[in-house]
Amino acid sequence: MNDDIIEGASNSEDEDEQESVEGMDEGELNAISPAKKFVLDKADRSLSELFRWYKSGRIVIDPEWQRNYVWDTTRASKLIESFLLDIPVPVIYLAKNDQGKYEVIDGLQRLTSVFNFFDNQYKLHRLDLLDNYRGKTFAKLPKEVQNKLEDSILRSFELSDSSGDIHFIVFERLNTGGVKLNDMEIRNCLYRGSLNALIKDLSKNDNFIKAVSQKTFHKRMQDRALVLRFLAFYERTHLKCTLGLKRFLNEFLATYQDCPDSKLQEYRKVFEKCMKASLTVFGETAFRLKSDIAKPGKYSSGEWSTRPNAAIFQVISTSFAKYDLGQVAQRADSIYEGYIDLINSDATWVDRVRRATGESTRLKYTFERWLERLDDIMGATQAQDVRRAFSRQLKKEMFDAEPTCKLCGNRISLIDDAVMDHDARYWLGGQTVPDNANLAHRICNLKKG
Ligand SMILES: [Zn+2]
Repeated sequence: MNDDIIEGASNSEDEDEQESVEGMDEGELNAISPAKKFVLDKADRSLSELFRWYKSGRIVIDPEWQRNYVWDTTRASKLIESFLLDIPVPVIYLAKNDQGKYEVIDGLQRLTSVFNFFDNQYKLHRLDLLDNYRGKTFAKLPKEVQNKLEDSILRSFELSDSSGDIHFIVFERLNTGGVKLNDMEIRNCLYRGSLNALIKDLSKNDNFIKAVSQKTFHKRMQDRALVLRFLAFYERTHLKCTLGLKRFLNEFLATYQDCPDSKLQEYRKVFEKCMKASLTVFGETAFRLKSDIAKPGKYSSGEWSTRPNAAIFQVISTSFAKYDLGQVAQRADSIYEGYIDLINSDATWVDRVRRATGESTRLKYTFERWLERLDDIMGATQAQDVRRAFSRQLKKEMFDAEPTCKLCGNRISLIDDAVMDHDARYWLGGQTVPDNANLAHRICNLKKG
């Protein structure tokens, strides 16, 4: 939800919410066990009671949610006025957790407006009917008006005895407040624990930030959504993702919610290694497609997309987990060329990282095709430092000297569009010596082959 602008897969109601990561569509939750049930209690609570709960920490408003408070003073003032005039205020939804505390599912704007007013954080203004209270904080209101407000009732529905999918779905459906929470933000509330804390921490990893290279992607927790994907696919592999991506990610979080230190350390280590490896191979344009890659039958010569793609991220980043950094660095150029070749030659793969990325069968394809390639490259007998002939460095030298296609005679505008014409799969480590190597357009070379 709310994650994918380019593919039109978003169900976001916030049209102006710019997402900085592509391919985030997780699909729908499916195959819910019918045994799961939940209880929704109705309660009428006074504002003073709710405020007391808030002060004592019984109502949990995550500090990270505070930034989602978007009401201005005018809107907050009108809410206070509604209470004073007995104008009905929409019901709020709370979820009771294991410790008897309440998470706010829906009602963050209303509750925060009330709590801030009781805390004298703003003055009433632009009231429609109660103009004599304009400019007053709670403390400055007449005592009987304070009492009236404290005794005002806010109806709440309180969700309890629920877990897993039901909890997530109720949260997803009911949360309609000022800013609709996305999947990761909901997870951040539902699966608190050591794993969630680690995800938050890893999202600040330098190499990760560099490789993704996206200034605003920490907004709306998109960075954490990527870290979660990494850990889930690393731990469970794509083979376990058979009921859709959303369920896969939720199950991983639920299973490892309070995972032990040893596991956390393992996760940290492998994440750091894989981010370093990704940066070594792809630099600061990792996990992307080319901007014009979608045009059918045409080789891309375009620039890298400005936005990383989550479906590519989960495949590429986890693929380095079983190799050590030295192995990857030694074959960095071959891996890079192998990736360029993949996105240029496999239209199905490109389609599957762009559309309906949460579907298990589509997702499986993206992993398998890349892992095959990477295995080929890593298994090649000659590492590229042995035969510089097959390295990107040589190609760059040739390109800088004479960027002309030997097959069609036209200019090659970008180095990624160039291949050595003697062997399209030279990135696997061929045998040809540099003397008879020529540069050609990828497409020309492919036609010839
Ligand atoms: Zn050509």
